[in-house]
Amino acid sequence: MSTISIPAEELELQEELDVLVVGGGSAGVAAAVSAGRLGLRTGLVEEMPHLGGMSTGGSVGTYCGFYVKGPGGDVVPTVGGFPLEMAQGLLSRGHAIGPIPYHDTAVLPYVPMGVKHLLEERVRGEAGLRVRLHSRLTHVVVEDGEIRGVVVDTRGGRIGLRARVYVDASGDAVLSRLAGAETLQGETLQYPSMMFTMQNVDVGKAVAAIVELPNILEAHFEAERLPRRSGNLIPTGRPGEVMVALSRVEFAGRPVDAAVEEELSFAELEGRAQAVRLAEFVKRRVPGFADAFLADTASRLGVRETRKIVGEYTLRGDDVLGARDFEDGIGRCAWPVERHVEGGLTSWTFLDAGASYAIPFRCLVPRGFANLMVAGRCLSADSGAFGSVRVIGPCMLEGQAVAAAARQICDDDVPAASVDVERLRAVLADWGVPL
Ligand SMILES: Cc1cc2nc3c(=O)[nH]c(=O)nc-3n(C[C@H](O)[C@H](O)[C@H](O)COP(=O)(O)OP(=O)(O)OC[C@H]3O[C@@H](n4cnc5c(N)ncnc54)[C@H](O)[C@@H]3O)c2cc1C
Repeated sequence: MSTISIPAEELELQEELDVLVVGGGSAGVAAAVSAGRLGLRTGLVEEMPHLGGMSTGGSVGTYCGFYVKGPGGDVVPTVGGFPLEMAQGLLSRGHAIGPIPYHDTAVLPYVPMGVKHLLEERVRGEAGLRVRLHSRLTHVVVEDGEIRGVVVDTRGGRIGLRARVYVDASGDAVLSRLAGAETLQGETLQYPSMMFTMQNVDVGKAVAAIVELPNILEAHFEAERLPRRSGNLIPTGRPGEVMVALSRVEFAGRPVDAAVEEELSFAELEGRAQAVRLAEFVKRRVPGFADAFLADTASRLGVRETRKIVGEYTLRGDDVLGARDFEDGIGRCAWPVERHVEGGLTSWTFLDAGASYAIPFRCLVPRGFANLMVAGRCLSADSGAFGSVRVIGPCMLEGQAVAAAARQICDDDVPAASVDVERLRAVLADWGVPL
């Protein structure tokens, strides 16, 4: 294969920071805002024009992993600090409804635009936090197991940034991979989906049809070449508006690998084509949708899984289902193991009633790097655990935890793997995080 060479470049360092967070999704914003609140000079780089990652751009539509059913049957939060603040903020503005019980946990459907606004308000409220949008991390400079600087492509050209601590909240372990950390592709990648929104829906009838939806899908799965046998209809709380989770995109008969350009490009186009086809199906077959129209698709494909780090500990499916506690737990989650698998199926495995597991800090620490941590869906977890811990509640818990850890790393000059977890947990407990 022929090649081209790129001339070597010297970049002036634009900023010396305490913490640089790569990726402005749920985990990254939680990390950046929490670091700012701890008085750390913080940078956040995000390649999209907005914050929220999959929660906004992918329109995933509900906050999961925030609640568990308590002994009296009431729904109680498993999260505290930033994620709870987000949930309460959205509810107070009418941009979320619920929490709506689901088995022994609950979900909080939200309006993606409301999430974008609230996240933006939070980052704008932090004087010590500089957000760069349309800015993509491209290179990482590593010496002796420490990241010494990174290169970011901005709309104004390439810039260099340096920080004491780096947080990989890219969802795809981009920073970790560029740094040379060991990463893994999920044993079986979960399928991605293109979410879409329908308006002018008779919401009452649509909600009543949710229980019938699996039967409707099963009855027409073969004849209408549907991508899923089960799905979801998510009312946003706004008149006549429902988000629809029915798409699932494959490539060459297997889940799309969204870390591969060719597959991601194909899947974006295929996902939007599916949305048009599925909206027509819903209009014809699902009660409440006869007069509805496809208002929009998500602005990007909903990617569940690409690459994860190999951390100091790898969370396992039996840790999740066994509701295991860890001495270095930084938060809890009760969400079931939800896996989007072959045959149009979604497999669900639930924890015992009222049970939740702890998320160990060590899952956020890639092996072999003094000043790198991860937060969000690229943490160290096997596919069983990943099916649960990938949802938004735990992602935000992890973000705020790595911010608190970064404060310690800066103050005590210790490597990430040597953070004093008792002190870390004390900070989180102060923020109201159930541990
Ligand atoms: C279709 C679908 C439905 C889902 N449904 C739900 C649900 O109902 N409830 C729930 O709680 N969870 C749901 N999930 C899971 C959940 O949405 C995600 O796991 C979670 O939002 C991940 O958050 P994150 O911050 O780790 O990553 P992301 O949200 O993916 O954010 C990562 C960010 O990093 C940015 N980035 C990546 N590379 C770079 C780079 N090189 N430079 C700069 N920026 C970069 C990306 O643009 C992105 O904004 C769903 C997921 C999908 C795909």
